[in-house]
Amino acid sequence: MPDSVTALERLGVAVPAADACHLRGVRFLSSGLSAETIFPSGSSGLSIRRTTLHRIMTERAAALGTDLLWQSTITGISNQHVHLGERSIRARWIVGADGAHSRVRHWSGLDTQSRTGLRYAFRRHYRVAPWTDRMEIYWGKRVQGYATAVSSEQVCVAAASHDPALRLEESLLAFPELSARLRGAETVSAERGSVTANRKLKRVWRGNVALIGDASGTVDAITGEGLGLSFSQAVVLANCFRSGNLSAYQTAHRRLALRPLWMARLMLTLDGRPRLQRRTLQVFRRHPEVFRRLLALHVGSLSPFHLALDGLTLGWGLLTA
Ligand SMILES: Cc1cc2nc3c(=O)[nH]c(=O)nc-3n(C[C@H](O)[C@H](O)[C@H](O)COP(=O)(O)OP(=O)(O)OC[C@H]3O[C@@H](n4cnc5c(N)ncnc54)[C@H](O)[C@@H]3O)c2cc1C
Repeated sequence: MPDSVTALERLGVAVPAADACHLRGVRFLSSGLSAETIFPSGSSGLSIRRTTLHRIMTERAAALGTDLLWQSTITGISNQHVHLGERSIRARWIVGADGAHSRVRHWSGLDTQSRTGLRYAFRRHYRVAPWTDRMEIYWGKRVQGYATAVSSEQVCVAAASHDPALRLEESLLAFPELSARLRGAETVSAERGSVTANRKLKRVWRGNVALIGDASGTVDAITGEGLGLSFSQAVVLANCFRSGNLSAYQTAHRRLALRPLWMARLMLTLDGRPRLQRRTLQVFRRHPEVFRRLLALHVGSLSPFHLALDGLTLGWGLLTA
């Protein structure tokens, strides 16, 4: 998402044009209907293979003098120390950036969390020429499909639902239009799966330990905001280290998560409701400015206070569509 790209740039990470595809907007598709809109004022999102982003980010970290200890498992933490098996490293601050199943979170007693709407997502890459510079979301009865170009010859396709047994191949049957685009295309990656949910922690720091990224809470993948959140958290956390005060991190962390969590809930009201999906798309087609402004809200370019009228238009449209 464009706000994530801005946050990444704030960390001094530049993604070379050749390594990513620019996304200009979003397209929703449901039962033969489609509605699309663009990101605000010419901004764009980036679509990039995880492995490529990983390389670019680690190169930046190494250039800044970070000691990268590959293939090392953190086995525990204690006051001022991180343990890697037999070895211990002294640490002024400890940052748990170890994902949704964070051990650091557990070790530091920060595990209390609320979780809503666990979903299962599967993805695969197909060798096919991209047909759009929009990120596509296909709304099915009980599953959503996502299609995003990641290079001039590869498209990433994912599907998310509440059913752990619903794999990508079967999900695609719900999206004939997308299936037609992929017909005969070679698959260039193995199917990989993950869970996704909205998770909030009561606390994201204790003593000299702070949690960041998915270790500190998650937003549903439908928002496309997970990475952006961790980039923004990193900027705040670095400032807190400088001032030696982590309580400001807690406040900023909560504020940063508010919008993505709210947008995840809003978007997921369409999940499993085909009639509502259809009506929403009809309203977006009839009032493209409502869709455009909702996307601007999603990427943080517009405050919720500016959307009262759009809320009324959407509500009235849903009643009368
Ligand atoms: C299906 C799906 C689609 C998504 N799409 C998007 C999207 O389009 N845009 C977006 O911004 N976000 C997206 N997200 C969210 C995004 O993937 C996460 O928010 C992001 O990966 C979180 O990064 P992280 O570094 O906090 O955690 P992770 O990516 O989980 O990384 C944690 C790392 O810690 C390591 N680790 C764990 N334990 C240890 C240990 N004991 N010792 C050493 N290392 C350890 C792991 O090996 C891993 O490398 C999506 C998520 C899902 C599930």
